[in-house]
Amino acid sequence: MPLDRYNRDINYLRISLTDACNLRCVYCMPEQMTFRPRDELLSDAELRRLITLFAATGFRKIRFTGGEPTLRPALVDLVAHATRTSGIDSVGLTTNGVLLAGLAAPLYAAGLRSVNLSLDTLDADKFRQITRWGNLPDVLAGLNAAARAGLRIKLNAVVSRGTNDHDDVIALARFTVAQPWQVRFIEQMPFGNNAEFQKKSIVDEDELLAVLTKEFGPLELENGGKLDGEARLYRIPGAAGHIGFISPVSKPFCADCNRLRLTADGILRLCLLRDNEADLRPLLRGGASDDEITAFIRKAVHVKPWGHGLADQVMSVSRGMSEIGG
Ligand code: SAM
Ligand code: SF4
Repeated sequence: MPLDRYNRDINYLRISLTDACNLRCVYCMPEQMTFRPRDELLSDAELRRLITLFAATGFRKIRFTGGEPTLRPALVDLVAHATRTSGIDSVGLTTNGVLLAGLAAPLYAAGLRSVNLSLDTLDADKFRQITRWGNLPDVLAGLNAAARAGLRIKLNAVVSRGTNDHDDVIALARFTVAQPWQVRFIEQMPFGNNAEFQKKSIVDEDELLAVLTKEFGPLELENGGKLDGEARLYRIPGAAGHIGFISPVSKPFCADCNRLRLTADGILRLCLLRDNEADLRPLLRGGASDDEITAFIRKAVHVKPWGHGLADQVMSVSRGMSEIGG
């Protein structure tokens, strides 16, 4: 069991499969974005080896993310490898859903059981405005295919002031009345040179809870407020699904953090919002043994920072969200 120096069990690895994306969400990346050359990204074989070694170190949970992970040609094979790796008991995927219609069934067959789909609005024009390039029907087709394939569904919506902070939130939350899904609202986090825009447009949990309470009446708090992963869950009385709030800015959950992140170019990010990193690629490409790599992983776990420093104006400047994967 990999414990960090604060005695947290760090057992969850989020793997970014590519920094590239087929959308350009305004809060995530500029429209003119350059991506890393293919040879800088970890190869499929390097990723498979790392998944096995992280499991051997005590990691139990893996999530594939991006950029947009469905752009990685070997996604289904990598999911199959992860789900068959001894010690890994949970494999997830975070996607914008654009390509999910054709992938949901093969991913289920590869052993995937749940998907997190990012969807900020159900209004097609607004969806295009937020994602710059997106076509809402593609994503809804992906969502339907995921439900048909039998995948558990969580919808993630980043809320921005003046864009999707009222009617859109209500429409997304309404999904949970009939569907057994989690619809989670994420506070926008400041990154690098987009930080000022992100700080200006953040809408926090308390404000959203007030909007939803006005529409649906008092929501029922689930699990006594204990987080499910990073989300505080509520239920509209009688609803099939849950509403969740992921509030790293207004209600940080660093004390319960159990994760490391692996960027597509092989860097271990020890905290989403700090630039503390450990580079695995020189070991992978320099002939390091499995023992040397697991020792490196343990050391990285040990020095994981206690938490983010947003309250002290410390934020990530070296990489944006699309390079880390969320
Ligand atoms: N492309 C995939 C997707 O959109 O689901 C996976 C990668 S994306 C970076 C992962 C998540 O991060 C998405 O739910 C996205 O909305 C969220 N995200 C991006 N930028 C963010 C920011 N500045 N603050 C909070 N969440 C952000
Ligand atoms: Fe792409 Fe996801 Fe970033 Fe949107 S949030 S630009 S879909 S990586």
